[in-house]
Amino acid sequence: MTTKSAAAAARATVHGYPRQGRNRELKKAVEGYWKGRVTADALRDTAAGLRRTHWRDLAGAGIHEVPTGDFSYYDHVLDTSVMVGAIPARHRAAVAADPLDGYFAMARGTQDVAPLEMTKWFDTNYHYLVPELRPDTVFTADSAKQVTECEEARALGLDPRPVLVGPVTYLLLAKPAPGVPADFEPLTLLDRLLPVYAEVLADLRAAGAAWVQLDEPALAQDRTPADLNAAARAYRDLGGLTARPRLLVASYFDRLGEALPVLAKAPVDGLALDFTGPAAANLGDLAAAGGLPGKRLVAGVVNGRNVWINDLEKSLATLGTLLGLADRVDVASSCSLLHVPLDATAERDIDPQIARWLAFARQKTTEIVTLARGLAHGTDTIAADLAANRADLASRAGSALTRVPAVRARAAAVTAADTRRSLPYPERAAAQRARLRLPLLPTTTIGSFPQTTELRTARAGLRAGRVTAAAYEERIEAEIREVLSFQEKAGIDVLVHGEPERNDMVQYFAEQLTGYLATQHGWVQSYGTRYVRPPILAGDISRPEPMTVRWTSYAQSLTDRPVKGMLTGPVTMLAWSFVRDDQPLGETARQVALALRDEVNDLEAAGSSVIQVDEPALRETLPLRAAGHAGYLAWATEAFRLTTGGVRPDTQIHTHMCYAEFGDILQAIDDLDADVISLEAARSHMQVAGELATAGYPREVGPGVYDIHSPRVPGAEEAAALLRKGLEAIPAERLWVNPDCGLKTRGWPEVRASLENLVAAAREVRDGL
Ligand code: GLN
Ligand code: ZN
Repeated sequence: MTTKSAAAAARATVHGYPRQGRNRELKKAVEGYWKGRVTADALRDTAAGLRRTHWRDLAGAGIHEVPTGDFSYYDHVLDTSVMVGAIPARHRAAVAADPLDGYFAMARGTQDVAPLEMTKWFDTNYHYLVPELRPDTVFTADSAKQVTECEEARALGLDPRPVLVGPVTYLLLAKPAPGVPADFEPLTLLDRLLPVYAEVLADLRAAGAAWVQLDEPALAQDRTPADLNAAARAYRDLGGLTARPRLLVASYFDRLGEALPVLAKAPVDGLALDFTGPAAANLGDLAAAGGLPGKRLVAGVVNGRNVWINDLEKSLATLGTLLGLADRVDVASSCSLLHVPLDATAERDIDPQIARWLAFARQKTTEIVTLARGLAHGTDTIAADLAANRADLASRAGSALTRVPAVRARAAAVTAADTRRSLPYPERAAAQRARLRLPLLPTTTIGSFPQTTELRTARAGLRAGRVTAAAYEERIEAEIREVLSFQEKAGIDVLVHGEPERNDMVQYFAEQLTGYLATQHGWVQSYGTRYVRPPILAGDISRPEPMTVRWTSYAQSLTDRPVKGMLTGPVTMLAWSFVRDDQPLGETARQVALALRDEVNDLEAAGSSVIQVDEPALRETLPLRAAGHAGYLAWATEAFRLTTGGVRPDTQIHTHMCYAEFGDILQAIDDLDADVISLEAARSHMQVAGELATAGYPREVGPGVYDIHSPRVPGAEEAAALLRKGLEAIPAERLWVNPDCGLKTRGWPEVRASLENLVAAAREVRDGL
């Protein structure tokens, strides 16, 4: 291998592109199709038009090899299930009757048939549909979608590189189908799956694909020797095929670690590696493994998950090192650009002095092309780009937004005492009991009440200037009055104001904190046709004035019962935003925590005796590899304690999490040092209560007895049975009665009936104690 030819051949590529289009055309077409307003043909035309536009954008910017097959009507893992014929039995009739409708039935379910389960794609906020497999699953190849998209790109005169979810990752992401024993391991189906991949690869070669990319991000997680053996076998088999395109195996999101030598030795033609974030360790690992002699290396040096401009000189240095390690080095994004918004230049409301630090998919594409040019033709050919990049980076580093001396000084002065309540939990619990005088099995809710059409209309009107601020606030107060009077009548013990003023539990706070940016068009796919606009943590964070006190105090003025103050916790604020890449996450978390701490203290000063700090994202932000867990949990739990540590012992701190499985963070949950935790538990029949009890969790717990993910109204008897189950694990002195989560997505009639039943259940069980 010679460094010179490796450099001269450098090409630019990406692993995938945002799907929705500039004006979210895909969302509109798909939802229109569901409602019967858009025909199947019109939907297909819109989709094909979007793909053409994306490829032309990429090629126009100078991308040499365009990804195909990354497009999806809903989700690329679901597309993979279709490609390998893994259609659950309950969906087969629908798929046979109409493949498109059957596809959407798998994604969304129908009146009679449940959809596939949805879960997060690694540690991103994208959700995929979990393949359901059985010991007797028979795979069959359906390469139509992949072949069509490859041919479409070729028809435009482009060089397509089809991107597939790799077979090992596909199986590792799958779960046993309903009714199949939970210990069934889908990976045991590998030998049956590989021939299907072989067929698809042959079809793609026939369609003109020189290279095909197989994505194996599951290999960037901690894997067992058996998993690694499976990967070795998979790529030995696929690499050994005769009629095949060249194979590029891609991984991203973390270091490949022990999987790196496995793939490096496999008879495939190239690897695509992530060199950003925690995956930057791939650089040293690759050198230690002796590089990739004879192979192509696609170097992911432009972060596909953040919104910041690249440090081009730093990337060139990385690329320079890599040139000595592979036969050919190409430049790419670290992962699909699916995880970032489309175009930063669409953000007209962001100060141009700040906008210059931002790179969304289009800007990242340009960075990749520039780096490939510099690599191939020398850095003097990109001297102007490098100078501009240096200036932009300097503007960010020296900006008054990113370095606020007062915020930094305060964060630096945080002491261990600031992150501790003044008394240990048992003494606080006694003080709180004396102050709150709640009955056994106290009832409460998680915070939000139904977001009615009137509310949404009022908020839209306020934004458009049709509704005055005074009229909007009047609307919010009216809503609070209604929520309060319902709760009092229903007999709930600890009330909430209902969160009517919040558009979203993160955005609402981001809009009020200095240092946070909101975007107008920064949509990112969360799942299917649901897109979110995560706010951007751009600078040092501070709170110019109280954010929630006005509404909580108003609610408290209407009742003698305690009204819970309600905040989103620092970890969740980070998890559902784009974070800074110029300082450790823990530092950003600490700044957010200090701003929230002021809010907590202000709520207390205004009379709140109970304050809830939601942390539904605590577990999902856990680093992919166990090696990163302790470091993460240390700063995450510290940020929570810093948020809540400044209140009196007799002020009760609640926290809330939306899931029931967290065996691996039980200790961290205790480390939050909250007084009460509410969790989702209705569907798993209070299993979590047992787990907490077994782990010796000493505090109060509210395992949900009302599944709010369904419009179904739980009967009082049913809720009472769940409570009795909860009592088997948690003593009555420490058990709360509440729904699984907030009620904002539900309708008033179900909420009324369900909460009345919940109170009835609590009373019945209480009376029987
Ligand atoms: N307090 C929030 C609500 O009730 C909590 C939402 C959540 O946990 N996702 O809506
Ligand atoms: Zn929740």
